[in-house]
Amino acid sequence: MTEDQRRIVGHPIAGEPVEHLPLRPLWLCRRCGQPWPCGAAKLALLAEYQGSPVSLFLYLAGCLHDAIDDLHRLNRSETGDAGDMFDRFLGWPARHTRSYRVNAIGATQGEETAR
Ligand SMILES: [Zn+2]
Repeated sequence: MTEDQRRIVGHPIAGEPVEHLPLRPLWLCRRCGQPWPCGAAKLALLAEYQGSPVSLFLYLAGCLHDAIDDLHRLNRSETGDAGDMFDRFLGWPARHTRSYRVNAIGATQGEETAR
């Protein structure tokens, strides 16, 4: 098989690792096939946006918006529950980003906290 034929069938170029990025419009990981963001993608995002959790949330909010559009266009039943989609894209960093949590609690000062 020639190099051109390899590119046509979609094989990655040798030596170039496929990153854990979303395959649109399915929103599955290009590398591991899990629903994106997969575990490896989450780790990469946390590392990339370390110290700027707001930027991470803004990025993921954009992804969530695009994913809802894409999945809804493909098949309404694939979109699933809106709460599940929200948690898939925006729930996990809230659990992993301590600085965001501290800021969020500080921002609700005066309100009754859950715990
Ligand atoms: Zn992956």
